[in-house]
Amino acid sequence: MTRRLRLAIPNKGRLVEPTVALLRDAGLMFEAGERALVARVQNFDLDILFVRTNDVVEFVNDGVAELGVTGLDLVAESGSDVPQLRTLGYGKCRLTVAVPNDSPFRAAEDLAGLRVATSHIFLTKRFFEGRSIPVDVIPVSGAAEVAPRLGLAEAIVDLVSTGSTLVVNGLKPIEEVFASEAVLLANKTALRDRSDDIETIRTMLGATLAARDRKYLMMNAPKAKLAELEDLLPGLESPSIIPLAHEGMCAIHSVVDADQVWSLLPRLKAAGASGILILPIEKLVS
Ligand code: AMP
Repeated sequence: MTRRLRLAIPNKGRLVEPTVALLRDAGLMFEAGERALVARVQNFDLDILFVRTNDVVEFVNDGVAELGVTGLDLVAESGSDVPQLRTLGYGKCRLTVAVPNDSPFRAAEDLAGLRVATSHIFLTKRFFEGRSIPVDVIPVSGAAEVAPRLGLAEAIVDLVSTGSTLVVNGLKPIEEVFASEAVLLANKTALRDRSDDIETIRTMLGATLAARDRKYLMMNAPKAKLAELEDLLPGLESPSIIPLAHEGMCAIHSVVDADQVWSLLPRLKAAGASGILILPIEKLVS
């Protein structure tokens, strides 16, 4: 008998909340207790393992879990070739070279012969070696941003999303080393032996993410205005046009990017649309 599929996700830190939200939006029902290590999904053959963000790659590589969610930066830092099924659009950040605001350094080349503090040792070494810039990489286990103030290093390489931690510490970014976001991983053997189960989860999460970014628009319009309105509504493929009982009128249904809706509305109205409805999409499988 094949065991229930296992998905390893972070138990602490900034990826927990968006990951749990994605799984719930996908319709999976489970209890995410504070200290629970495993949650049984009630309506799907899946167990969720809550592990340290840093350990997800290892759990998936070793086959303890068939699937995992963690940051791309951690996958790259581990040097693992664990299969990546898809990025998830949250947990976005950039591994960045930063220096004190009052320093003369403008680019990575200016750091030749100097010290760079980081907890992302592999990616930092790869970056500077790739550019043939000799630096002394100083490993720190966290809080790299205080290293220049303590006189430990002239620069740091750290993850940045809004940049506010850098500002608070009097630092400025000068180069990007790596762009990261959350990613769905799969175990190599499971990808071969349980490809259908894994594909179901990949589709489930993908359809949930795609639906978040889109809205379903419905409107009425004179048939004579159809061409003009169709130009405004590229949709997924093309809009659906449905004749109405009222002679010369039709209904138009279309899927549009959520962040375009508000700029689109006045243009649709000006082009003759009326009775415009904006509806959420539950799941979108393309
Ligand atoms: P945690 O240390 O458990 O909060 O999670 C760290 C992971 O969250 C990193 O490896 C990144 O993939 C992701 N992340 C997203 N934004 C940031 C940020 N501003 N700083 C650190 N990690 C971030």
